[in-house]
Amino acid sequence: MLKITPIPILQDNYVWLLENQGQTLVIDPGEAEPVMAYLKQHNLSLDFMFITHKHWDHVTGIAAIKAAYPDCIIYGTGHHEIPCRDIALIGGEAFDLMGLSWRVWHTPGHTLDHIVFHTHTQEDNGIKQDHIFSGDNIFACGCGRMFEGTAEQFHASLHSIVSLPPSTKIYCTHEYTLANIHFALHVEPNNTYTLHRQDVSSQQREAGLPTVPTTVADELKSNPFVRCNAPDVIRAAEHFSGKVLGKPEEVFAVIRQMKDTF
Ligand SMILES: [Zn+2]
Repeated sequence: MLKITPIPILQDNYVWLLENQGQTLVIDPGEAEPVMAYLKQHNLSLDFMFITHKHWDHVTGIAAIKAAYPDCIIYGTGHHEIPCRDIALIGGEAFDLMGLSWRVWHTPGHTLDHIVFHTHTQEDNGIKQDHIFSGDNIFACGCGRMFEGTAEQFHASLHSIVSLPPSTKIYCTHEYTLANIHFALHVEPNNTYTLHRQDVSSQQREAGLPTVPTTVADELKSNPFVRCNAPDVIRAAEHFSGKVLGKPEEVFAVIRQMKDTF
């Protein structure tokens, strides 16, 4: 059975560690030490690494981990140089690894080189469970900063993810949930689901637990960046920009600007 564990690194990043059929994979090791300590403590070797994008907090640990586990194969975005990368992916690929079927999507917006990894498992009750490893694309109740892409690109990338079934688990790489909820409530003060989510996430953090993974259903109900058709989100964006906004992409662009200066 697929086991997925978040390893906290740096200030507020998570490296996702996957174990299935006796093999192990880590995603976006921005720091080597905590990952190697976990592997050692649990008597695991490392077979694969996935890299979503080029930022330092996603790639800095790669070389040291590769030195310790030289047989490990590194799959990373092919839109930019990634240290030690063995296999370059540009999105659109499908392959089997660790007994799982993987699909790679190109999701520009945060950076132009950004990719995400999708797989699925079969639960005991026979129901299909989707999993998406979203890097710095969609976050719990937020999304990454728009460093390189356009609002149109970022909006389309986010929507490809939330078009997956509502039960899909989203494994993002930052613990930004409470700050994101704070902003989401600034945009939609009357969103009762977001208020509920604030309580749940606060309790999780107080107990020292991660607030992620999140789900597509949670994001559709509370994440302003994928709710650009919601009346309160449109109203907030039009108030901030002083313009009537026609398209969801335009609303997204303004909401992203609002968050940058919040
Ligand atoms: Zn990033």
